[in-house]
Amino acid sequence: MKVKVMGAAKEVGRSAFLVNCNNTNILMDYGVLLKREPIFPMHVKPKEVDAVVITHAHLDHSGFAPSLYLSETTDIPALATLPTFELSELLIEDMIKLSGFYLPFEYIDVMTMLKSSKNLQYREPHMVNDARVTLYESGHVVGGSTVVVEHDGKKVFYTGDINTRGSKLLRPADLDFGEIDMMIIESTYSQTEQVPREQSERELIEFAYEVIDRGGTLFIPSFSVERAQEIASVLKAYNFKHKVVMDGMALKANQIMSRHPAFLRDADQFRKAIGEAEWIQGWSRRRKVVNEPCVIISPAGMLAGGSAVFYTQQLAASDKNGIAIVSYQGEGTPGRMLLEKRVANFDGKVRKCYADVKKFEFSGHNSRSELFEILDRVKGNPKVLTVHGDGPSCVKFAEEIREKYGYDAHAPDQGEVVEV
Ligand SMILES: [Zn+2]
Ligand SMILES: [Zn+2]
Repeated sequence: MKVKVMGAAKEVGRSAFLVNCNNTNILMDYGVLLKREPIFPMHVKPKEVDAVVITHAHLDHSGFAPSLYLSETTDIPALATLPTFELSELLIEDMIKLSGFYLPFEYIDVMTMLKSSKNLQYREPHMVNDARVTLYESGHVVGGSTVVVEHDGKKVFYTGDINTRGSKLLRPADLDFGEIDMMIIESTYSQTEQVPREQSERELIEFAYEVIDRGGTLFIPSFSVERAQEIASVLKAYNFKHKVVMDGMALKANQIMSRHPAFLRDADQFRKAIGEAEWIQGWSRRRKVVNEPCVIISPAGMLAGGSAVFYTQQLAASDKNGIAIVSYQGEGTPGRMLLEKRVANFDGKVRKCYADVKKFEFSGHNSRSELFEILDRVKGNPKVLTVHGDGPSCVKFAEEIREKYGYDAHAPDQGEVVEV
């Protein structure tokens, strides 16, 4: 088997790996790198692809897949779990709204892709010619998976984005797939130990009480898929006493996730968290709720659009209020400006933010030590490719894997082909 690295080489974004098994080509992920305008992975001719596997709905893994369906004659099977397809559709549709101008495809091509979709269950092998593709639970987002491709006695394992610790919403990743010959592993936090989840949870709850007890409102900008629901579940798990409000695209994601209880760690707990929250309908309610003692969860996670802009502008005016940042803030985003300079910067208008802004770590990725635990647990003597991290993180991680485990590990370049 050969694997061509088509993206996510020494960078986070545009994940794409083409697995070649004799005459069969399987594309694992085809994502975009979201900058001011989206950046795409390497080109592949759709007629040379026998199947595309989408690990999860995040756009850095799913966002460019519709480009394989531009001609109506293409019917490449798209393989993923059903929640991944439904959440991908939601996120890709939103990307087309925001940056359609830069994209080579339209919504109709997303529809063509969905018509070619084949819903897989975890651990249910699917044959693409004589290659066998199996998805395993990844613990990263609802419906998220890792991928194992087997052909001719060789086995490639691709982590996609992975979380072996699980969360309030999700079970931990499933690593029970036997010996492997190659591993393509994400390196996002390979050089960073994150704050333990329970500590982040407790600090967030304390902050929420602190803000509301002094008469303020707490805003938690969150990505609509997974993070928003995870935060609502955390508040529920700690029996948070005050009102929780959800808004924006998170509501559509709520509905999709509710339809797939089997993909959740505790469907009852999820239903309670989401069901007891108030779902904002319309502007008259939105304008009022900013003056109420409550927690508001709404996208976008980096404050770059959506109702988050309104909430930040409203709540920034008073020092009674709080804003809790619960995800990574990309460089140049309004979220990063808020965090570093305490200013609310929208439409060129820069205003001082009087609200208390605090950061909490709630990543859906493994921390450094947990990434090494994966290496402790996998069987075989795999070649290792470290991807989906910044340059130094991928390179250093590979070096450490070589030293500690003696595996043939390196951080590949884009376009590189590796054989096992
Ligand atoms: Zn992801
Ligand atoms: Zn990713």
